[in-house]
Amino acid sequence: MTKKEFKAESKRLLDMMIHSIYSQKEIFLRELISNASDAIDKIYYKALTDESLSFEKDRYFIKVTADKEKRTLTITDTGIGMTQEELENNLGTIAKSGSLAFKAENEAKDGHDIIGQFGVGFYSAFMVADEVTVTSKALGSDTAYRWNSKGADGYTIEPCKKAEVGTEIVLKIKENTEEDQYDEYLEEYRLKAIVKKYSDFIRYPIKMDVTES
Ligand code: ADP
Ligand code: MG
Repeated sequence: MTKKEFKAESKRLLDMMIHSIYSQKEIFLRELISNASDAIDKIYYKALTDESLSFEKDRYFIKVTADKEKRTLTITDTGIGMTQEELENNLGTIAKSGSLAFKAENEAKDGHDIIGQFGVGFYSAFMVADEVTVTSKALGSDTAYRWNSKGADGYTIEPCKKAEVGTEIVLKIKENTEEDQYDEYLEEYRLKAIVKKYSDFIRYPIKMDVTES
């Protein structure tokens, strides 16, 4: 499997995330949940105009699952999913709103306020994770794909199996260091508090599941 390199400007943002210059790391969950919600919105809006598609409310949700033993935090959604090309284009480059605003401002400032103001989107996962795996099956597609990255040195994309349309993002949570604590992102009370703080306005159910070890 060939490893692809991130585009130069993505790499810059990614490096900032990996080295966690920003103290409010918890916002990664807001970013991932808002992406999940956007992905469900896309099916919702598509269903408004596409008669072959119905939006059955109960089928659409976001799920947050922590596994302390494996040190993984998984965010699953039943949204529109991504094709191979979309994984490549959307996660391999910064082309999108939040990140672009960040980039524009970034030249002048040190980045601290900017992240809070605009959000940095998907890459914020790398503030708390040293490996991120995105498994996705796009609406109308038979094949699923898996995007994986351990950070700045690139990413891989390969076909895989996934039954349902939607996206699953697995974060391998970093080990604690003397300066930074990451264990909290596997704790139910902490995750609940973050979800409540930032995602109260999300109009799809957010389910939670924590496996103790
Ligand atoms: P933004 O949300 O501002 O567009 P992000 O960095 O948060 O930027 O996400 C980049 C893009 O990746 C999104 O615009 C979307 O196309 C895609 N994406 C990210 N997460 C998901 C997801 N859970 N389901 C479908 N697409 C996603
Ligand atoms: Mg986003």
